[in-house]
Amino acid sequence: MDMDPGILCFQHCGPKVFCFQLPNDCPVCTCNLSNGNFQLPPFRVPYPFVRAIQHPCSIVIKPTTGDFLHDYRNTKDLHIGVTTSQGEVVEFDRRGVRRNQAALWQQCLVVDGAAKPWSEHWDATLQQVSGQPCWTPFSYDEDSFNCYTFVLSFLCKLRYGNLSEAAMNRTVFCESFILPRTTAAGKYISLFRKLQASRFYIYKPVSSDSFRRGS
Ligand SMILES: [Zn+2]
Repeated sequence: MDMDPGILCFQHCGPKVFCFQLPNDCPVCTCNLSNGNFQLPPFRVPYPFVRAIQHPCSIVIKPTTGDFLHDYRNTKDLHIGVTTSQGEVVEFDRRGVRRNQAALWQQCLVVDGAAKPWSEHWDATLQQVSGQPCWTPFSYDEDSFNCYTFVLSFLCKLRYGNLSEAAMNRTVFCESFILPRTTAAGKYISLFRKLQASRFYIYKPVSSDSFRRGS
């Protein structure tokens, strides 16, 4: 299932135009586009989200409810999980440790992952951590003992360079690994929402030399 809505971008007479479907006429200057006089020919804006199954040995995030494009607001909404070397997601939530809800992980972001030679150690560590008796529905707490607690204790046990070092502290991990991913994806999300509200989004950068360039 491909969830990429296919946002297109082109430049005809100046500003960047974003849309889902290429129009006949340029929405900026109203010229017909069929002669192909583009400053920048149409291209598909890269879709930042992935399916977890395609990313073995990775840390993945998605909104707790709904999906990124429609429902995501901020990092407080995020749910985090770990994929095995087979791309199965292991996650901890109010129902305890759960495995392989692939259908729920069709539109997620990869936070980071391990190189292939690590996969055996990755799986063994994940098995060991998820087998600990502490991950029960009764011990779950939305603020203090949640999906992050699970993933961070896995990463600490893994001893995988910077990723494990950052995992010792929730705030550090969030700032160095989560925020850069959600910020980049945020640009795509806001573009998508603008295009749901109107057919085109015309991007005019505010530039101090716009007078000179316009003359
Ligand atoms: Zn134009």
